[in-house]
Amino acid sequence: MTLHVVSHPLVAHYLTRLRDKETTPDEFREASDKIITLLLYEATRDLRSRAFTMQTPLEPTEGHVIDDRVVAVPILRAGLGLVGPVLALLPHVTVGYIGLERDERTAIASRYYVKLPPDIKGKAVMILDPMLATGGTAKKAVEIMKEYQPASVRLVCVVAAPEGIQALQAAHPDVQIFAAAEDRQLNAQKYILPGLGDYGDRLFGT
Ligand code: URA
Repeated sequence: MTLHVVSHPLVAHYLTRLRDKETTPDEFREASDKIITLLLYEATRDLRSRAFTMQTPLEPTEGHVIDDRVVAVPILRAGLGLVGPVLALLPHVTVGYIGLERDERTAIASRYYVKLPPDIKGKAVMILDPMLATGGTAKKAVEIMKEYQPASVRLVCVVAAPEGIQALQAAHPDVQIFAAAEDRQLNAQKYILPGLGDYGDRLFGT
């Protein structure tokens, strides 16, 4: 199973703040930072750490440092809103950016901007995109990242639609998806229902 829906009362609380149409951009950003921090707790559970002997003020003991190197890759534009908590929580993290645009006729996503750190090979890539809707963007982002031979690829999103989950799992069964909720379906405009609207618009007040 590659889908992890994080079930926790705090996640449910902040997801409700995000869904509420009365939530202002300030409040939305605050709830977004908090829910992403909670999702990261699960999304980083399998990172490897190294044990070493350290000194407390009283005696030697065993300490641990994170050994895996994470490359966080927000998808422009809404993914930018997820970078803050990632930088605050993860040690040694580097950040790359991917911009994708969708051809409205063919629904195929193509890259218009890719700026990545060097040495992705062997690292843990964490794609950040808050809404997994059709899966077209996520599939393309994973495809781009796999060109660099990372050790693993995971996707952190807030809300995932069944259509997007299926599409991503079919194309990339090795990719783990972490989300706060699996919602019901997409509407005709490819918005997630019940969803929370346009994440980027709500985050940036556009
Ligand atoms: N992107 C969004 O911001 N919201 C959706 O519901 C779907 C895609």
